[in-house]
Amino acid sequence: MLPYGRQSIVEDDVAAVAEVLRGDWLTTGPQVQGFEEDLAGWTGGVGCAVVSNGTAALHTAYAAAGVGPGDEVVVPPMTFVATASSAVALGAKVVFADVEEETFTLDPAAAAAAVTSRTRVVSAVDYAGHPADYDALRRSLAGSDALLLADAAHSIGATYHGRPVGSLADLTTFSFFPTKNLTTAEGGAVAATDPAVLERARRFRNIGLVRDRAEQRWPDEGGWHQEVHEFGLNYRLPDVLCALGRSQLRRLGDFLAARERLVRRYDEALAELPGVLLPARRSWARPAWHLYPIRVLDGRRREVYDRMRAAGIGVQVNYIPVHWHPAFADLGYRRGSCPVAESFYEQQLSLPLYPGLSDTDQERVVDALAAALRGAPAASAA
Ligand SMILES: *Cc1c(COP(=O)(O)O)cnc(C)c1O
Repeated sequence: MLPYGRQSIVEDDVAAVAEVLRGDWLTTGPQVQGFEEDLAGWTGGVGCAVVSNGTAALHTAYAAAGVGPGDEVVVPPMTFVATASSAVALGAKVVFADVEEETFTLDPAAAAAAVTSRTRVVSAVDYAGHPADYDALRRSLAGSDALLLADAAHSIGATYHGRPVGSLADLTTFSFFPTKNLTTAEGGAVAATDPAVLERARRFRNIGLVRDRAEQRWPDEGGWHQEVHEFGLNYRLPDVLCALGRSQLRRLGDFLAARERLVRRYDEALAELPGVLLPARRSWARPAWHLYPIRVLDGRRREVYDRMRAAGIGVQVNYIPVHWHPAFADLGYRRGSCPVAESFYEQQLSLPLYPGLSDTDQERVVDALAAALRGAPAASAA
């Protein structure tokens, strides 16, 4: 089965990991700071804290923003559930706001309508790697002291009006899961434009420990003295994985170029195919294409998914609207509240897209899609 996404690991990655394994530090050594500095090279210099996965990055970012009980967090439903559930984990109320047509990123007008005096964070998601409209989102926060967060799990390396993802919102989160644009197996990061917020994020990922004598509250107990002022968790990313991340980051430019080339080939090959709509991009965006999300018209998404899977093409659906999950339904959230996201979901299908996808395999995908739409019997998996 051709997957919808997969990692690209080369011998340099293996060597980088092996070198750290043979050294003195397995976790919280020099590779952590090195990876954070290398990441800042992609965020326009905005400081980063690496953490153990993208969900932990969201949890850490919300904690650093001070999200707690009584607060509201505005989230679009067209995302992975963690964008919302990590705010619930801190006791906040999630308010779903619909997405824009065509890019399926958070609609600034819907966000503005959702903001109240209790809103602590407004989270945009760079769906498929296409940046949300951050300048318009910033305007929809005017008069509120809410922070703007970018869930950039799909979009590291993308730009908006020439400015890099990581510098567009107050807080930005990344995921380094194997299907994402670069991988550390499990891993993630938080970028924060305010150094004080970044420091809170660093503390949260390290159990809340305060080791700097100047900041401690109690008299010195001795050389072992450490204090917790605010509760945190152990969300540290080990040195071994930071070494993998640094090695992967050296190829991020190549990964993005390969994705862009494959997207162009899909755009050309599928342009005349009836029954589907192709992903759109705004003139101001240079996306970091993580997904190639098409829309299958005439209520045929399920049928096309099943036929392509039977033909050995691992298409995927991203995503079931978050408020449809039973955990949100149990909290009183109802279907129908975000019609743009919900009708997009009914049509959405992600075609395989990753740097190692060969031209021949991509042609197989195109042929299988055309055959599925013709209603022809599924070709056998080669
Ligand atoms: C993958 C993903 C996450 C979560 O990242 P993990 O590393 O899998 O925990 C969060 N948000 C979005 C949009 C994602 O795609």
